[in-house]
Amino acid sequence: MRKRIFIIAFSIMTLMLVFYAVLSTQLFYDSAVLHTKGHLKVYMNAYSEEFSFDNYGAQAFSQQLNGVRVTFLDGNGTVTGDSEQPSLVGSAHVDREEVKLAQSEGEGYSVRSSDSIGADMVYYCVKTDSGYVRLALFTDSELGVFKDSVPTLAWFVFVIIIICMVFTYLASEHIISPVKKIARDAAMSREVKPPYPELKPVTDILNRRNMEVASKIKELSEEKELVERAQKSKNEFISNITHEMNTPLTSIKGYTELLSGGMLNGEQQKIAYSTILNQSERLTKLVSRVINYNELDNDELPSYEVNASTLLKDLISTLMPSMGKKSLSLKSDIEDGIIVNSRFERVNQVFSNLIRNAIRYNKEGGEIAITLKKEENGAVFSVRDTGIGISEKDIGRIFERFYTVDKSHNGVNGGFGLGLATVKKICKRSGWIISVESKIDEGTCFTVKIK
Ligand code: ADP
Repeated sequence: MRKRIFIIAFSIMTLMLVFYAVLSTQLFYDSAVLHTKGHLKVYMNAYSEEFSFDNYGAQAFSQQLNGVRVTFLDGNGTVTGDSEQPSLVGSAHVDREEVKLAQSEGEGYSVRSSDSIGADMVYYCVKTDSGYVRLALFTDSELGVFKDSVPTLAWFVFVIIIICMVFTYLASEHIISPVKKIARDAAMSREVKPPYPELKPVTDILNRRNMEVASKIKELSEEKELVERAQKSKNEFISNITHEMNTPLTSIKGYTELLSGGMLNGEQQKIAYSTILNQSERLTKLVSRVINYNELDNDELPSYEVNASTLLKDLISTLMPSMGKKSLSLKSDIEDGIIVNSRFERVNQVFSNLIRNAIRYNKEGGEIAITLKKEENGAVFSVRDTGIGISEKDIGRIFERFYTVDKSHNGVNGGFGLGLATVKKICKRSGWIISVESKIDEGTCFTVKIK
């Protein structure tokens, strides 16, 4: 860029200098000729008829004029005397411009290169009674004037080079330093202000780029967070399953060792076999629940219309014996003909998990209230119990996988902490909204808004 500025500045200044040199040469030359003409006119005043009209007279007059060339011509324009070229006598100068002008107007000037002397001369010719008197003085040619100015011009070119170099340095610094500052600022902050309006397009681009980079960084860090969360959740999942499997497996292994070692009597053997059977069933149940939970992620099966009212009524009748065992009383308010666009097993899982929990975590002789009602754009299902309730500390976590409030229930009541996680996942995939309200020792109410 500096090179370019230098070349442009140098070219402009040199062109101007040459233009000025040519113009001033012309002006100087014109002025010199004008002055010479003036001098010749004054010299001519010194002429008198006393000078003989021959070479001697011409030389005498020339001496009087300090060497100005004098030429005398007769009335026909033929040279009769010349102060510098006596041999010219007899040659016809009637065709010379100054002579022609003198013939027609009484006096005449001309500027030209002298044929006889070979230099530029200013001629002034006047008509007298004896013929024509012509005075001539040397003058510099235009080229000569120009040549004289060449050394000065060369100095000026040198000065121009220095000026251009300084100008280029200052101009480029003046232009580049704000750009450098913008680049520095852009690296430090999100928004850069243009130091002058011409740089606005540049700062606009930088600001846009900065915003894009910032949003990409945000996206990447969000993605990273997601990946980390997924990894953490996977690790937790594996450790939870391992933990859940460990208890029944330890129990099965222990009893099997005792049985194979023949260390148990008849009654103890019965207990051992029954425990092994129970724990095996529990393991099977755990595996099937985990498989079911994981399969929900890949469930791309098509939805169809499910009669939720009938499904719920049938479900309640199958759960009646469990309610009876705890002497629970049931209040149900189920609107007929509620159609849900889903799959039978998904609706069933949601209803059944929530009602089973309402039974499991209820108190002896408690109540359960189940409702299913039509709503604008869908239906609302709710199940309320008068059970043990959930504390504020736990309520935010009950939908997490393998989360159980009372760890001592774990295994005893058959809960793995996967029921609500499964319900939540189905709701999320179906676009349904699940909410919970609970008070410790008073009861819990789950509500599902079905679309
Ligand atoms: P679990 O198989 O242990 O019941 P869930 O995922 O269904 O697993 O429930 C998670 C935890 O939420 C349960 O361990 C229990 O402590 C609590 N919970 C769920 N439903 C109720 C309810 N109706 N009343 C009180 N606590 C409940």
